[in-house]
Amino acid sequence: MSEVYARPEPTLIPIPRPPCPACQNRMMLIHVAAGCDGPGLRIFECSKCGNVHKVSTDDPTRAAE
Ligand SMILES: [Zn+2]
Repeated sequence: MSEVYARPEPTLIPIPRPPCPACQNRMMLIHVAAGCDGPGLRIFECSKCGNVHKVSTDDPTRAAE
């Protein structure tokens, strides 16, 4: 029996955390804004220097609809 899984919730997907552009510390994901019709937005914050980094996400699994 094959069960087709629906797209997982964005919050359940392991999100790669970028290094801080200022001090190379691994940044924390502090906010995820899912776009309904467009790319979402992920906001990372560096726990070391407080730098905030916003990443626009263009999820290919969503665009395939
Ligand atoms: Zn930093």
